[in-house]
Amino acid sequence: MTRRLHDRHRAVLPDWLALYYKQPVEITHGEGRHVWDADGNKYLDFFGGILTTMTAHALPEVTKAVAEQAGRIIHTSTLYLNRQMVELAERIAQLSGIPDARVFFTTSGTEANDTALLLATAYRNSNQILAMRNSYHGRSFSAVGITGNHAWSPTSLSPLQTLYVHGGVRSRGPYAHLGDSQFIEACVADLEDLLGHTRNVAALIAEPIQGVGGFTSPPDGLYAAFREVLDRHGILWITDEVQTGWGRTGDHFWGWQAHERSGPPDLLTFAKGIGNGMSIGGVVARAEVMNCLDSNSISTFGGSPVTMAAGLANLTYLLEHDLQGNARRVGGLLIERLRAICAQLPVVREVRGRGLMAGIELVRPGTDEANPEAAAAVLEAAREGGLLIGKGGGHDTSVLRVAPPLTLTVAEAEEGAAILERALHTV
Ligand code: PMP
Repeated sequence: MTRRLHDRHRAVLPDWLALYYKQPVEITHGEGRHVWDADGNKYLDFFGGILTTMTAHALPEVTKAVAEQAGRIIHTSTLYLNRQMVELAERIAQLSGIPDARVFFTTSGTEANDTALLLATAYRNSNQILAMRNSYHGRSFSAVGITGNHAWSPTSLSPLQTLYVHGGVRSRGPYAHLGDSQFIEACVADLEDLLGHTRNVAALIAEPIQGVGGFTSPPDGLYAAFREVLDRHGILWITDEVQTGWGRTGDHFWGWQAHERSGPPDLLTFAKGIGNGMSIGGVVARAEVMNCLDSNSISTFGGSPVTMAAGLANLTYLLEHDLQGNARRVGGLLIERLRAICAQLPVVREVRGRGLMAGIELVRPGTDEANPEAAAAVLEAAREGGLLIGKGGGHDTSVLRVAPPLTLTVAEAEEGAAILERALHTV
């Protein structure tokens, strides 16, 4: 059954559409932290559809809100008022930390980043953008133009002039041997040097922790140090919180808050988890930046009542159940457990992460070389054992990614870690 669907998929969808597993899995339903495939196999979900299932699969509160709204009206357009959209915007504006914030809803992270680029380039009258090496920001023409991870950037053509900065990845590259403050100093020097050769940069866009890039871990304070330099040049700071937002990192609601002295960003983009699977993305910006466009703009489906109802119900659940606190507690235990499991494994170079966002970087034993074959094999073995995880990294995709729904229990964390341990022992 699954095989036939795979063949049909290949016959009609693009070859470049990334698919996991030699025998791709067809998920048919889910509940809590579990999903089931078309053959009836049950999996513990440690990837949540790349962090889209923020709270839990089939969370009754979200399902009910969606069904009720769909029963009334699914969509008209943002040409008319929509109560849910205004309410969700009010809550996100308040949570963003950005003063006098305005919110614009899109349908994806890509469209959110595209909009942020439109705003920043218009505001600064410049198409020069600073982006981080190894970054991922989406798949539109402008988003791939600021994506430093070349495994996900299929064209070198771009409407933007992009300059890539060091700092997103700490474990590899020329500054890997440096301690926190020296690393920050070196990255700041690199940024200053780059700016010495440019005229009028619009913005820096950065993921606080790179997601697709392999859950990297820049030291706290890096973006505060960058911010000082950016401010001197009048350059805007866009934080891409598509993976790091909504409390996933445990210590903070947004990833940028780990760099607190930076103060809030000028623009913040979000997507993925807020709709718990419904397509919501968006941009938050201070009013002056958001309102710099002097012509009309609209997203036909951005802010649709059904997705907004899902977002409101999901956000309410997240806050009422302190899922950020759960990410900190259960995520902390999980990372500790993964470190213990991996301590003696020569195939593991590093276990890193924050909250419920953990990465395990694999290498060829005895070397520093990436080991994408081992990562692929562990992914397969974990699936055999009943666990779905993700992978990422640079071109060589050798980092296992763990990012379960934020309601994960301690027992489920233990169960997943044990399956992962067995999977790691197969390579
Ligand atoms: N930014 C980041 C940090 C992402 O991880 C992603 C998706 N992986 C995107 C943007 C693009 O989001 P979408 O796939 O919803 O367009």
